[in-house]
Amino acid sequence: MNDAPLVVVSGPSGVGKSTVVAQALAVDPSIWLSVSATTREPRPGEVDGRDYFFVQDDRFDELVATGGLLEWAAFAGNRYGTPRGPVEERRHAGTPVLLEIEVQGARQVRQAVPGALLVFLAPPSWEVLKDRLLRRGTESPEAVERRLQAARDELAAADEFDAVLVNADVGECAQALLALVSDPTSVPRGRVPDPDLP
Ligand code: 5GP
Repeated sequence: MNDAPLVVVSGPSGVGKSTVVAQALAVDPSIWLSVSATTREPRPGEVDGRDYFFVQDDRFDELVATGGLLEWAAFAGNRYGTPRGPVEERRHAGTPVLLEIEVQGARQVRQAVPGALLVFLAPPSWEVLKDRLLRRGTESPEAVERRLQAARDELAAADEFDAVLVNADVGECAQALLALVSDPTSVPRGRVPDPDLP
């Protein structure tokens, strides 16, 4: 039997990846969302093993060295990676798997898993993205600035993706994502705004 689909949801920090993915999973709980390892400190309310596996640098080094990660990337001062084993086990067992990761990691998945479907989530405008990042209030001003810089590069990468969904409405975006998981040939290509940072 073929493996179940692997769908990657990527796009800039603050675009609403987690919200759209959570909504999609609420509608279709048969999809499994991978839990990443990260060296970032937990935010208030985040739970180890549910939101992330929060690990020290040496443990992350070990995961990289032993090939335990399907992909990994340094992002805004921390490292993030997808544990390989659980993704492969779920797919072999017939469960569709979602990864919610940033763009460098999505590129690695493209190389490592040629059949994966790469979905880019774009903000309706650059202003909306800035506003969401600032209003989230969980990062220091320096961290927000790093994420905005990363977002400029990430928006430029949208063309590399199989589908581009514009997150103007969370419910609609979640539905479009579910449509892609069940029929990867239905690939919408939304409009990506130009960043207007200096
Ligand atoms: P945050 O610190 O806001 O939770 O995540 C920062 C960025 O890292 C987000 O764009 C998020 O999607 C991404 N990310 C989360 N887990 C992974 C992962 O396992 N691999 C990669 N490459 N990026 C990840």
